[in-house]
Amino acid sequence: MKPDYRTVLINPNYANYGCLSLLLILTVVVAIVGWDWVINGVLIFLAFLIIAPVLGALGFRWWLKANVMEDSCPVCDYTFAGFNDKECRCPNCGEILVARNGHFERFTPEGTIDVNAVDVSVKKINDDPDN
Ligand SMILES: [Zn+2]
Repeated sequence: MKPDYRTVLINPNYANYGCLSLLLILTVVVAIVGWDWVINGVLIFLAFLIIAPVLGALGFRWWLKANVMEDSCPVCDYTFAGFNDKECRCPNCGEILVARNGHFERFTPEGTIDVNAVDVSVKKINDDPDN
């Protein structure tokens, strides 16, 4: 049996209270704040819907400029982008790098001593006993 409009309104088993509760909420809100602020609220909400994505896009661009940098890998010279003050891995050679002050540096774990190679000239010692 298909319920007609009156049984839907009267019988709670078929009732859909969404429309009634919206009407009740709207009546309470109008009674408390008045029609002016209901209309103002709708207009403010519409303005927020228009302004919020623009402000969000501008904020995201500012955040990207402040946190993303581009430099070349010190090992293989491959240029890529990374986050400031974060560890990353070179996508070309796989070297672990740290981005500091807009430049990538090789990551050295704590306790590692960085040593520069020194060219040592060889002095040939003559082992010949005749001289
Ligand atoms: Zn690399």
